[in-house]
Amino acid sequence: MSLSRLARSIAESPTLRLNEEARILRERGEDVINLGIGEPKNRAPITAILSAASKLSSGDVKYTPTDGLPSLKKAIIRYTEENYDRLPAPENVIVATGAKQAIHMLLFTLLNPQEEVIILAPYWVSYPEMVRMVGGVPVVVTPEDGTFQPRLKDIEQAVSGYTKAVILNSPNNPSGMLFPDAFVADLVDFCDRKNLYLITDDIYHKLVFDGKRATPAHAFSTQDIDSSRIIVINGISKLYGMTGFRIGWAVGPRPIIEIMINVQAQTTSCASAVLQAGAEGALTGMQSFVESLRLTIQNNRDVVMQELAGVASVVTARPEGAFYCLPDFRYYNGDSVALSEFLLKKALVVTVPGKEFGMEGHLRLSYSGGVKELTEGVARIKWALDPNSPNEIYIGDRKLVRDWL
Ligand code: PMP
Repeated sequence: MSLSRLARSIAESPTLRLNEEARILRERGEDVINLGIGEPKNRAPITAILSAASKLSSGDVKYTPTDGLPSLKKAIIRYTEENYDRLPAPENVIVATGAKQAIHMLLFTLLNPQEEVIILAPYWVSYPEMVRMVGGVPVVVTPEDGTFQPRLKDIEQAVSGYTKAVILNSPNNPSGMLFPDAFVADLVDFCDRKNLYLITDDIYHKLVFDGKRATPAHAFSTQDIDSSRIIVINGISKLYGMTGFRIGWAVGPRPIIEIMINVQAQTTSCASAVLQAGAEGALTGMQSFVESLRLTIQNNRDVVMQELAGVASVVTARPEGAFYCLPDFRYYNGDSVALSEFLLKKALVVTVPGKEFGMEGHLRLSYSGGVKELTEGVARIKWALDPNSPNEIYIGDRKLVRDWL
């Protein structure tokens, strides 16, 4: 069959594939623990539900303006003012069907064929694929072994005449690391000097632990939104646990947003009216919701760190935000795809191979779920790998005996 070479070269999303595998196993009655997907377990905030329900029951569900419902944009403007110390004009904001689509449209808007985007490893799996999808070239900058943050001098070395943008995601998926203020400040200054766009994917920016804060890139620049080269991506998926609403947005200079609006107009037209109303409900409702989710996740982080400390020879950097950790399993197996498959088969635990994030030898574990799943998931991993752990384990009613160590 003759299909597009470029489209065929796009890798499938490993997290969505693993999620599907877990779902199928569960349907077969297997007691699978999914530490693969990053999705809080909470119900959507009541203000979001009521707002979406009211839009739906009005029966007036039509196209919205391409750039988003004016009332949602107003809420995003207020959110930006409160959290970024910048007051965007409505023309600086576009609402999209998830942060993912916003990033895709943005890359399509910024890149000419062969232009390069610097991606810092470990990175979210979709960045390189989206860059390639729009004809660009992802350039991955890898940190020194044992660290999760590339050095500015390595970023500098990766810049070529084709470099157009850098993507920064802090707190980070998959490492849970929060990039230090000094690094973000240097990167803002560097991008400014080199005329590079700085895309900050702030989707986890309020899920930060231990009293720390994710300082926005704008804090290290004196420029207003229109004269700066910073584009902020954000959304409701993670902070409000509203992944299925599929609402995200971009805030950036007008000429960029203007083109993104044309791109959206010719592709999806607009995000769903009902779900935009839901997002508005979340942003204008009680913000204690985000704080209580943050506290739950922080507690989960403590639990997973404590449990992982009991698995011999696995090194885990303590996450400072988001809901992932990226333990180093090289002592047991340097091939993260093989190890992840082994754990799914033997222990019925879904993990995501670090290879997918540019960090071979590691596994990403999500701690966005419940404490019980988390504790049991790590106990199963320990049982499968660590010879010091008991030889037998119960998975549901089934007693399993380890016969491979
Ligand atoms: N950016 C990062 C770093 C993410 O981890 C995710 C979701 N996994 C997204 C963007 C996409 O968010 P949304 O659901 O709003 O498309």
